[in-house]
Amino acid sequence: MSGGYTDIHVHCVPRDGAVRFRGWRRLLAPFLARSAGSRGSGPQAARRYMDRLADRLRTARHVRRAVLLALDCAHDAHGNPTDHMQGYTVPDADVRAWCEEAPDLFLYGASVHPHRPDALDALEQAAAQGAVLVKLIPNSQGIDLAEGRHQPYFRKLAELGLPLLCHAGTEWVLPAQRQAWGDLARLCPALDAGVTVIAAHGGSSGWFYNRHTLRRYAALLADCPNLYGDTAALGLVNRMGALLWWRRHTEHVGQLLFGTDYPVPVPAVAWRPWLAEVDYRRLTCEANPFDRMALLLEALGIHPPEQGFEALLAGSGRLREERA
Ligand SMILES: [Zn+2]
Repeated sequence: MSGGYTDIHVHCVPRDGAVRFRGWRRLLAPFLARSAGSRGSGPQAARRYMDRLADRLRTARHVRRAVLLALDCAHDAHGNPTDHMQGYTVPDADVRAWCEEAPDLFLYGASVHPHRPDALDALEQAAAQGAVLVKLIPNSQGIDLAEGRHQPYFRKLAELGLPLLCHAGTEWVLPAQRQAWGDLARLCPALDAGVTVIAAHGGSSGWFYNRHTLRRYAALLADCPNLYGDTAALGLVNRMGALLWWRRHTEHVGQLLFGTDYPVPVPAVAWRPWLAEVDYRRLTCEANPFDRMALLLEALGIHPPEQGFEALLAGSGRLREERA
């Protein structure tokens, strides 16, 4: 199938299946496992999770492939790895291995912590190994993107034409070191350095009410043609305010990319007040989580360009050629 979205925000698991949640976050585990259709931990559970994911992509009508996201561990200011992620990291090599098993379905999303002493080499290596973007969660990985020390990292991303998919807003699923590091304003130095930045969660602050954040987001979108957003997790109640905002701001929809944040689900019942009865029924009957997100967007009249991510990548390639 050649048509359909590329879902740019899909979480995979490490090959050894070692995914742990601590504290109150243990309550999230069964919720996410149910949505993913795979319980337990260990290599076999990891395999089940990925088989189910592949199967759902293969049978989706509106989505044809997904960017699988690696997640580097947190590092301190001196570049030493720390345990702040509390057990949920996904190595680049594991993501590449999943991608090699189903290259028609999976694209490689790398994660390289900018404090790593080998960060610039690791970015080059990721690009050479086919990465289509680099994912960071500054709140949890311990990164203040506004620090001047990151300029070489940004220059390397721009030079390689690698987009930065960056979590923005409050982080809930992983423990945060500092929520302020998810502030949109901290993306400005990367944008100024010419990096294509995708602010995950489409301007949502992580809270239902986020008018202030969305106002600043709209101003940034207007100022920075290299800024994009994704629709990841915007079906959730705490983020639905952002999706309702996008419904009224179609002038920016060319800067919106399709993403689900799989295995995060789309709870249909929360959307009932905003949907026509026929659309609500279609949504409740849709079992495929990728198609569910696509149907929700369609019902709300939000149409991210179907080939938006492909166009973005082609644009980065052109930029690179012009510089050469
Ligand atoms: Zn995510």
